[in-house]
Amino acid sequence: MQSPHIITELPGPNARAMIARDAEVISPSYPRDYPFVMARGRGTEVWDVDGNRFLDFAAGIAVCATGHAHPQVVAAVQQAAGEFLHISSDYWHERMIALAERLARLAPLGEPAMSFLCQSGTEAVEGAIKLARYVTGRPRFIGFLGGFHGRSMGSLSFTSSKYTQQKGFGQTMPGVTHVPFPDPYRPLFAGDDQGAAVLDYIAMLFERSVPAADVAAILIEPIQGEGGYIVPPPGFLAGLRALCDAHGMLLIFDEVQSGVGRTGRMFACEHDGVAPDIMCVAKGLGSGLPIGAVVARRKHMQQWARGAHGNTYGGNPIACAAAIATLDLVESDYAANAAEVGAHFMSRLRDLMADYPCIGDVRGRGLMIGMELVEADGAPAKALCDTVITRAFHNGLLLLSCGASTVRFMPPLSTTKDEIDEALALLRAALDEALA
Ligand code: PLP
Repeated sequence: MQSPHIITELPGPNARAMIARDAEVISPSYPRDYPFVMARGRGTEVWDVDGNRFLDFAAGIAVCATGHAHPQVVAAVQQAAGEFLHISSDYWHERMIALAERLARLAPLGEPAMSFLCQSGTEAVEGAIKLARYVTGRPRFIGFLGGFHGRSMGSLSFTSSKYTQQKGFGQTMPGVTHVPFPDPYRPLFAGDDQGAAVLDYIAMLFERSVPAADVAAILIEPIQGEGGYIVPPPGFLAGLRALCDAHGMLLIFDEVQSGVGRTGRMFACEHDGVAPDIMCVAKGLGSGLPIGAVVARRKHMQQWARGAHGNTYGGNPIACAAAIATLDLVESDYAANAAEVGAHFMSRLRDLMADYPCIGDVRGRGLMIGMELVEADGAPAKALCDTVITRAFHNGLLLLSCGASTVRFMPPLSTTKDEIDEALALLRAALDEALA
Protein backbone atom coordinates (compact mmCIF):
# COMPACT_ATOMS: atom_id res chain seq x y z
CA MET A 1 0.00 0.00 0.00
CA GLN A 2 1.27 3.45 -0.86
CA SER A 3 1.69 5.71 2.15
CA PRO A 4 -0.93 8.47 2.36
CA HIS A 5 1.56 10.98 3.70
CA ILE A 6 4.75 10.89 1.63
CA ILE A 7 6.05 14.44 1.82
CA THR A 8 9.08 15.05 -0.34
CA GLU A 9 12.06 12.87 -0.86
CA LEU A 10 13.79 12.62 2.52
CA PRO A 11 16.20 13.97 3.48
CA GLY A 12 15.48 17.11 1.49
CA PRO A 13 18.23 19.36 0.11
CA ASN A 14 18.56 21.58 3.19
CA ALA A 15 18.65 18.57 5.52
CA ARG A 16 21.25 16.86 3.32
CA ALA A 17 23.50 19.92 3.38
CA MET A 18 23.29 20.25 7.18
CA ILE A 19 23.93 16.56 7.77
CA ALA A 20 27.05 16.84 5.62
CA ARG A 21 28.33 19.79 7.71
CA ASP A 22 27.46 17.97 10.94
CA ALA A 23 29.47 14.91 9.90
CA GLU A 24 32.62 17.04 9.88
CA VAL A 25 32.28 18.52 13.35
CA ILE A 26 29.85 16.56 15.54
CA SER A 27 30.79 13.35 17.34
CA PRO A 28 29.65 10.28 15.41
CA SER A 29 28.75 8.57 18.71
CA TYR A 30 25.20 9.97 18.74
CA PRO A 31 22.89 7.07 17.88
CA ARG A 32 20.90 8.67 15.04
CA ASP A 33 18.51 6.43 13.15
CA TYR A 34 17.11 8.63 10.37
CA PRO A 35 17.82 12.06 8.90
CA PHE A 36 15.37 14.43 10.60
CA VAL A 37 16.76 17.97 10.82
CA MET A 38 14.57 20.10 13.08
CA ALA A 39 13.53 23.62 12.15
CA ARG A 40 10.62 24.33 14.52
CA GLY A 41 7.88 22.70 16.53
CA ARG A 42 4.52 23.41 18.12
CA GLY A 43 2.76 20.90 20.37
CA THR A 44 3.17 17.47 18.79
CA GLU A 45 3.94 18.84 15.32
CA VAL A 46 7.46 19.51 14.07
CA TRP A 47 8.80 20.79 10.78
CA ASP A 48 12.15 20.01 9.23
CA VAL A 49 14.46 22.45 7.45
CA ASP A 50 12.82 21.61 4.11
CA GLY A 51 9.34 22.49 5.36
CA ASN A 52 8.10 18.92 5.86
CA ARG A 53 5.66 18.34 8.72
CA PHE A 54 5.92 15.39 11.09
CA LEU A 55 4.10 14.17 14.19
CA ASP A 56 6.69 13.84 16.92
CA PHE A 57 6.01 10.67 18.88
CA ALA A 58 9.56 10.63 20.25
CA ALA A 59 9.37 14.07 21.92
CA GLY A 60 13.14 14.42 22.17
CA ILE A 61 13.29 11.05 24.03
CA ALA A 62 10.31 11.73 26.29
CA VAL A 63 11.51 15.24 27.12
CA CYS A 64 8.99 17.62 25.51
CA ALA A 65 6.32 16.83 28.09
CA THR A 66 4.23 19.90 27.35
CA GLY A 67 4.79 19.71 23.60
CA HIS A 68 7.14 21.82 21.56
CA ALA A 69 7.34 25.50 22.46
CA HIS A 70 4.34 25.58 24.80
CA PRO A 71 3.49 29.29 25.11
CA GLN A 72 3.30 29.10 28.92
CA VAL A 73 6.74 27.49 29.15
CA VAL A 74 8.23 29.87 26.60
CA ALA A 75 6.82 32.86 28.50
CA ALA A 76 8.25 31.58 31.79
CA VAL A 77 11.66 31.11 30.16
CA GLN A 78 11.57 34.57 28.59
CA GLN A 79 10.56 36.18 31.87
CA ALA A 80 13.38 34.44 33.76
CA ALA A 81 15.94 35.16 31.04
CA GLY A 82 15.15 38.86 31.25
CA GLU A 83 15.98 38.87 34.95
CA PHE A 84 19.25 36.91 35.11
CA LEU A 85 20.70 33.95 33.22
CA HIS A 86 22.79 32.42 35.97
CA ILE A 87 24.00 32.94 39.51
CA SER A 88 25.44 29.49 40.52
CA SER A 89 24.34 27.18 43.26
CA ASP A 90 26.57 29.05 45.76
CA TYR A 91 23.72 31.53 46.14
CA TRP A 92 19.98 31.47 46.69
CA HIS A 93 17.16 32.45 44.36
CA GLU A 94 13.42 32.16 44.48
CA ARG A 95 12.78 29.88 41.50
CA MET A 96 15.20 27.23 42.76
CA ILE A 97 13.49 27.16 46.16
CA ALA A 98 10.01 27.17 44.60
CA LEU A 99 10.89 24.24 42.35
CA ALA A 100 12.28 22.22 45.26
CA GLU A 101 9.16 23.01 47.31
CA ARG A 102 7.05 21.79 44.42
CA LEU A 103 9.06 18.58 44.04
CA ALA A 104 8.82 17.98 47.79
CA ARG A 105 5.03 18.23 47.54
CA LEU A 106 4.74 16.03 44.45
CA ALA A 107 7.36 13.34 45.04
CA PRO A 108 5.68 10.26 46.49
CA LEU A 109 8.37 9.55 49.08
CA GLY A 110 5.93 9.32 51.97
CA GLU A 111 8.10 11.68 54.01
CA PRO A 112 9.40 15.24 53.79
CA ALA A 113 11.76 15.57 50.84
CA MET A 114 14.75 17.62 49.73
CA SER A 115 16.16 18.09 46.24
CA PHE A 116 19.58 18.43 44.67
CA LEU A 117 19.17 20.13 41.29
CA CYS A 118 21.30 19.32 38.26
CA GLN A 119 21.20 19.32 34.46
CA SER A 120 20.53 15.81 33.22
CA GLY A 121 19.37 12.32 33.97
CA THR A 122 22.82 10.88 34.33
CA GLU A 123 23.77 13.60 36.81
CA ALA A 124 20.64 12.85 38.85
CA VAL A 125 21.63 9.19 38.96
CA GLU A 126 25.22 10.06 39.95
CA GLY A 127 23.85 12.17 42.80
CA ALA A 128 21.50 9.40 43.93
CA ILE A 129 24.19 6.71 44.08
CA LYS A 130 26.61 9.05 45.84
CA LEU A 131 23.94 9.93 48.39
CA ALA A 132 23.14 6.24 48.96
CA ARG A 133 26.80 5.42 49.61
CA TYR A 134 27.22 8.49 51.79
CA VAL A 135 24.30 7.85 54.12
CA THR A 136 24.63 4.07 54.38
CA GLY A 137 28.43 3.87 54.41
CA ARG A 138 28.03 0.80 52.17
CA PRO A 139 29.79 0.26 48.83
CA ARG A 140 27.62 -2.07 46.75
CA PHE A 141 24.49 -1.80 44.61
CA ILE A 142 21.95 -3.97 42.84
CA GLY A 143 20.96 -2.88 39.31
CA PHE A 144 18.90 -4.50 36.56
CA LEU A 145 19.81 -6.02 33.21
CA GLY A 146 18.25 -3.92 30.47
CA GLY A 147 18.38 -0.84 32.67
CA PHE A 148 19.43 2.54 31.33
CA HIS A 149 20.60 5.19 33.75
CA GLY A 150 23.00 7.34 31.73
CA ARG A 151 26.49 7.31 30.33
CA SER A 152 28.80 8.93 32.87
CA MET A 153 31.01 6.42 34.70
CA GLY A 154 28.82 5.91 37.78
CA SER A 155 25.48 5.65 35.99
CA LEU A 156 27.13 3.70 33.14
CA SER A 157 28.06 0.98 35.59
CA PHE A 158 24.32 0.28 35.92
CA THR A 159 23.41 0.88 32.27
CA SER A 160 22.96 -2.41 30.46
CA SER A 161 20.32 -2.11 27.77
CA LYS A 162 22.92 -2.60 24.99
CA TYR A 163 26.51 -3.79 25.27
CA THR A 164 27.66 -0.93 22.97
CA GLN A 165 27.08 1.49 25.86
CA GLN A 166 29.96 -0.11 27.82
CA LYS A 167 32.13 -1.49 25.02
CA GLY A 168 35.51 0.21 24.82
CA PHE A 169 35.28 2.07 28.13
CA GLY A 170 37.02 -0.39 30.40
CA GLN A 171 36.07 -0.88 34.02
CA THR A 172 33.20 1.22 35.34
CA MET A 173 32.36 1.81 39.00
CA PRO A 174 32.91 -1.41 40.93
CA GLY A 175 30.28 -2.90 43.22
CA VAL A 176 27.25 -3.10 40.90
CA THR A 177 25.58 -6.51 40.57
CA HIS A 178 22.96 -6.81 37.83
CA VAL A 179 19.92 -9.03 38.18
CA PRO A 180 17.21 -9.75 35.58
CA PHE A 181 14.31 -7.31 35.26
CA PRO A 182 11.04 -9.27 35.53
CA ASP A 183 9.55 -9.44 32.04
CA PRO A 184 6.08 -10.94 31.84
CA TYR A 185 6.23 -11.14 28.01
CA ARG A 186 9.62 -12.84 27.82
CA PRO A 187 9.83 -14.79 31.09
CA LEU A 188 13.29 -15.91 32.10
CA PHE A 189 12.20 -17.98 35.06
CA ALA A 190 9.75 -20.85 35.44
CA GLY A 191 6.36 -20.03 36.93
CA ASP A 192 3.77 -17.34 36.42
CA ASP A 193 5.15 -14.70 38.74
CA GLN A 194 8.38 -13.33 37.25
CA GLY A 195 8.49 -10.65 39.95
CA ALA A 196 8.51 -13.22 42.76
CA ALA A 197 11.17 -15.22 40.90
CA VAL A 198 13.48 -12.19 40.63
CA LEU A 199 12.94 -11.38 44.31
CA ASP A 200 13.96 -14.98 45.13
CA TYR A 201 17.00 -14.59 42.89
CA ILE A 202 18.08 -11.46 44.76
CA ALA A 203 17.55 -13.21 48.08
CA MET A 204 19.77 -16.06 46.80
CA LEU A 205 22.45 -13.54 45.78
CA PHE A 206 22.36 -12.08 49.29
CA GLU A 207 22.87 -15.54 50.75
CA ARG A 208 25.66 -16.64 48.41
CA SER A 209 27.68 -13.81 46.93
CA VAL A 210 26.58 -10.26 47.70
CA PRO A 211 26.42 -9.59 51.46
CA ALA A 212 23.21 -7.62 51.96
CA ALA A 213 24.91 -5.57 54.69
CA ASP A 214 27.31 -4.23 52.02
CA VAL A 215 24.54 -3.04 49.69
CA ALA A 216 23.79 0.68 49.80
CA ALA A 217 20.82 0.60 47.45
CA ILE A 218 18.77 -1.08 44.78
CA LEU A 219 18.44 1.15 41.69
CA ILE A 220 15.56 0.47 39.29
CA GLU A 221 13.39 2.15 36.69
CA PRO A 222 9.78 1.60 37.83
CA ILE A 223 9.04 0.98 34.14
CA GLN A 224 12.10 -0.12 32.21
CA GLY A 225 12.62 2.40 29.40
CA GLU A 226 15.47 1.90 26.93
CA GLY A 227 15.41 -1.80 27.83
CA GLY A 228 12.02 -2.26 26.16
CA TYR A 229 9.22 -0.35 27.93
CA ILE A 230 8.67 -3.23 30.33
CA VAL A 231 6.13 -2.84 33.13
CA PRO A 232 7.12 -5.01 36.10
CA PRO A 233 4.47 -7.39 37.44
CA PRO A 234 2.21 -6.18 40.28
CA GLY A 235 3.84 -6.55 43.66
CA PHE A 236 7.42 -6.53 42.39
CA LEU A 237 8.31 -2.97 43.43
CA ALA A 238 6.63 -3.57 46.79
CA GLY A 239 8.77 -6.69 47.14
CA LEU A 240 11.91 -4.63 46.49
CA ARG A 241 10.75 -2.11 49.10
CA ALA A 242 10.35 -4.91 51.65
CA LEU A 243 13.80 -6.32 50.80
CA CYS A 244 15.39 -2.89 51.24
CA ASP A 245 13.62 -2.36 54.56
CA ALA A 246 14.64 -5.79 55.81
CA HIS A 247 18.32 -5.16 55.03
CA GLY A 248 18.68 -1.44 55.75
CA MET A 249 19.39 -0.54 52.13
CA LEU A 250 17.85 2.32 50.16
CA LEU A 251 15.46 2.03 47.23
CA ILE A 252 16.21 4.38 44.33
CA PHE A 253 13.65 4.85 41.58
CA ASP A 254 15.02 6.24 38.34
CA GLU A 255 11.98 8.17 37.09
CA VAL A 256 14.02 10.07 34.51
CA GLN A 257 11.95 8.70 31.63
CA SER A 258 8.77 7.57 33.39
CA GLY A 259 8.26 10.64 35.60
CA VAL A 260 6.49 14.00 35.25
CA GLY A 261 3.12 12.75 34.05
CA ARG A 262 4.38 10.41 31.33
CA THR A 263 2.48 7.36 32.63
CA GLY A 264 -0.70 9.25 33.44
CA ARG A 265 0.35 9.83 37.07
CA MET A 266 2.97 12.34 38.16
CA PHE A 267 5.42 9.49 38.84
CA ALA A 268 5.24 5.90 37.59
CA CYS A 269 5.78 4.40 41.05
CA GLU A 270 2.43 5.88 42.11
CA HIS A 271 0.71 3.13 40.08
CA ASP A 272 2.25 0.61 42.46
CA GLY A 273 1.87 2.71 45.60
CA VAL A 274 5.53 2.14 46.49
CA ALA A 275 7.64 4.96 47.93
CA PRO A 276 11.37 5.10 47.18
CA ASP A 277 13.99 6.66 49.44
CA ILE A 278 15.50 8.54 46.53
CA MET A 279 14.07 9.45 43.14
CA CYS A 280 15.89 10.63 40.00
CA VAL A 281 13.98 13.07 37.80
CA ALA A 282 15.00 14.81 34.57
CA LYS A 283 13.82 14.69 30.92
CA GLY A 284 10.17 15.89 31.00
CA LEU A 285 10.79 18.11 34.01
CA GLY A 286 12.03 21.06 31.95
CA SER A 287 10.01 20.50 28.73
CA GLY A 288 13.36 20.62 26.90
CA LEU A 289 15.42 22.90 29.14
CA PRO A 290 18.22 20.81 30.66
CA ILE A 291 17.30 20.10 34.27
CA GLY A 292 17.38 17.12 36.59
CA ALA A 293 16.82 16.49 40.27
CA VAL A 294 17.76 14.03 42.96
CA VAL A 295 14.73 14.05 45.24
CA ALA A 296 15.36 12.26 48.53
CA ARG A 297 13.84 11.77 51.91
CA ARG A 298 14.97 14.75 53.92
CA LYS A 299 16.36 12.57 56.69
CA HIS A 300 18.86 11.21 54.13
CA MET A 301 19.76 14.29 52.10
CA GLN A 302 20.21 16.51 55.11
CA GLN A 303 23.13 14.28 56.15
CA TRP A 304 25.22 15.64 53.27
CA ALA A 305 27.87 17.91 54.72
CA ARG A 306 28.54 21.29 53.14
CA GLY A 307 30.60 20.68 49.98
CA ALA A 308 29.89 16.93 49.91
CA HIS A 309 28.16 17.32 46.56
CA GLY A 310 27.63 20.31 44.31
CA ASN A 311 27.72 21.73 40.79
CA THR A 312 27.85 25.05 38.96
CA TYR A 313 24.56 25.11 37.07
CA GLY A 314 22.24 23.33 39.55
CA GLY A 315 19.04 25.32 39.91
CA ASN A 316 19.69 27.44 36.84
CA PRO A 317 16.93 30.06 36.92
CA ILE A 318 15.76 29.56 33.34
CA ALA A 319 15.63 25.79 33.69
CA CYS A 320 13.77 26.18 37.03
CA ALA A 321 11.26 28.54 35.39
CA ALA A 322 10.64 25.99 32.63
CA ALA A 323 10.25 23.22 35.22
CA ILE A 324 7.75 25.16 37.32
CA ALA A 325 5.68 26.02 34.23
CA THR A 326 5.89 22.38 33.12
CA LEU A 327 4.71 21.08 36.50
CA ASP A 328 1.83 23.61 36.45
CA LEU A 329 0.64 22.22 33.12
CA VAL A 330 1.24 18.57 33.92
CA GLU A 331 -0.53 18.82 37.27
CA SER A 332 -3.52 20.72 35.96
CA ASP A 333 -4.11 18.92 32.64
CA TYR A 334 -1.46 16.86 30.99
CA ALA A 335 -1.03 13.91 33.35
CA ALA A 336 -4.78 13.31 33.05
CA ASN A 337 -4.56 13.75 29.28
CA ALA A 338 -1.71 11.22 29.11
CA ALA A 339 -3.89 8.72 31.00
CA GLU A 340 -6.89 9.30 28.75
CA VAL A 341 -5.32 9.48 25.30
CA GLY A 342 -2.80 6.83 26.33
CA ALA A 343 -5.64 4.38 27.09
CA HIS A 344 -7.20 5.18 23.70
CA PHE A 345 -3.84 4.72 21.94
CA MET A 346 -3.09 1.45 23.73
CA SER A 347 -6.46 -0.03 22.85
CA ARG A 348 -6.10 0.96 19.14
CA LEU A 349 -2.59 -0.54 19.08
CA ARG A 350 -3.96 -3.75 20.60
CA ASP A 351 -6.64 -3.76 17.87
CA LEU A 352 -3.82 -3.68 15.30
CA MET A 353 -2.52 -7.01 16.65
CA ALA A 354 -5.38 -8.81 14.88
CA ASP A 355 -4.20 -7.51 11.48
CA TYR A 356 -0.46 -7.71 12.13
CA PRO A 357 0.73 -10.97 13.72
CA CYS A 358 4.22 -9.43 13.82
CA ILE A 359 3.01 -7.32 16.79
CA GLY A 360 3.83 -9.64 19.66
CA ASP A 361 3.00 -7.37 22.57
CA VAL A 362 1.66 -3.90 23.34
CA ARG A 363 2.42 -2.65 26.84
CA GLY A 364 3.01 0.42 28.93
CA ARG A 365 1.16 3.03 30.89
CA GLY A 366 -0.22 6.43 29.86
CA LEU A 367 1.87 7.79 26.99
CA MET A 368 4.79 5.45 27.62
CA ILE A 369 3.83 2.63 25.26
CA GLY A 370 5.91 -0.08 23.62
CA MET A 371 4.94 -2.29 20.66
CA GLU A 372 7.22 -5.32 20.42
CA LEU A 373 7.67 -6.73 16.92
CA VAL A 374 8.35 -10.43 16.56
CA GLU A 375 9.23 -13.05 13.95
CA ALA A 376 6.84 -15.93 13.24
CA ASP A 377 8.67 -17.99 15.89
CA GLY A 378 8.33 -15.21 18.49
CA ALA A 379 11.97 -14.07 18.29
CA PRO A 380 12.57 -10.29 18.35
CA ALA A 381 12.14 -8.87 14.82
CA LYS A 382 14.98 -6.35 14.96
CA ALA A 383 15.24 -5.66 11.21
CA LEU A 384 11.48 -5.22 10.90
CA CYS A 385 11.48 -2.80 13.83
CA ASP A 386 14.18 -0.70 12.16
CA THR A 387 12.31 -0.71 8.85
CA VAL A 388 8.99 0.28 10.45
CA ILE A 389 10.70 3.22 12.15
CA THR A 390 12.35 4.32 8.90
CA ARG A 391 9.11 3.99 6.95
CA ALA A 392 7.23 5.90 9.66
CA PHE A 393 9.71 8.74 9.26
CA HIS A 394 9.12 8.81 5.51
CA ASN A 395 5.39 8.93 6.18
CA GLY A 396 5.69 11.83 8.61
CA LEU A 397 5.89 10.16 12.03
CA LEU A 398 8.94 10.36 14.30
CA LEU A 399 9.46 7.21 16.38
CA LEU A 400 12.30 5.59 18.29
CA SER A 401 12.96 2.01 19.27
CA CYS A 402 13.92 0.37 22.55
CA GLY A 403 14.80 -3.12 23.73
CA ALA A 404 15.60 -5.63 20.98
CA SER A 405 12.67 -4.90 18.66
CA THR A 406 10.19 -2.61 20.36
CA VAL A 407 8.77 0.54 18.78
CA ARG A 408 8.23 3.02 21.56
CA PHE A 409 5.64 5.77 21.60
CA MET A 410 6.30 8.73 23.90
CA PRO A 411 4.58 11.76 22.35
CA PRO A 412 4.12 15.00 24.28
CA LEU A 413 1.62 14.64 27.11
CA SER A 414 -0.49 17.30 25.39
CA THR A 415 -1.08 15.09 22.33
CA THR A 416 -4.74 14.94 21.26
CA LYS A 417 -6.86 11.93 20.32
CA ASP A 418 -6.95 13.21 16.73
CA GLU A 419 -3.16 13.26 16.63
CA ILE A 420 -3.09 9.71 18.03
CA ASP A 421 -5.47 8.61 15.28
CA GLU A 422 -3.38 10.35 12.63
CA ALA A 423 -0.27 8.63 13.99
CA LEU A 424 -2.05 5.27 13.90
CA ALA A 425 -2.84 5.73 10.20
CA LEU A 426 0.81 6.60 9.53
CA LEU A 427 1.95 3.61 11.58
CA ARG A 428 -0.36 1.27 9.66
CA ALA A 429 1.14 2.54 6.40
CA ALA A 430 4.65 2.03 7.78
CA LEU A 431 3.84 -1.54 8.84
CA ASP A 432 2.35 -2.31 5.41
CA GLU A 433 5.40 -0.92 3.63
CA ALA A 434 7.82 -2.72 5.94
CA LEU A 435 6.04 -6.03 5.44
CA ALA A 436 5.53 -5.65 1.66
N1 PLP B 1 17.71 7.32 33.35
C1 PLP B 1 16.78 6.92 32.46
C2 PLP B 1 15.68 6.02 32.91
C3 PLP B 1 16.85 7.33 31.13
O1 PLP B 1 15.94 6.93 30.26
C4 PLP B 1 17.92 8.20 30.75
C5 PLP B 1 18.05 8.63 29.35
O2 PLP B 1 17.46 8.11 28.44
C6 PLP B 1 18.85 8.58 31.71
C7 PLP B 1 18.72 8.14 33.01
C8 PLP B 1 20.00 9.49 31.35
O3 PLP B 1 19.52 10.75 31.11
P1 PLP B 1 20.43 11.83 30.34
O4 PLP B 1 20.51 11.38 28.92
O5 PLP B 1 19.69 13.12 30.53
O6 PLP B 1 21.75 11.83 31.01
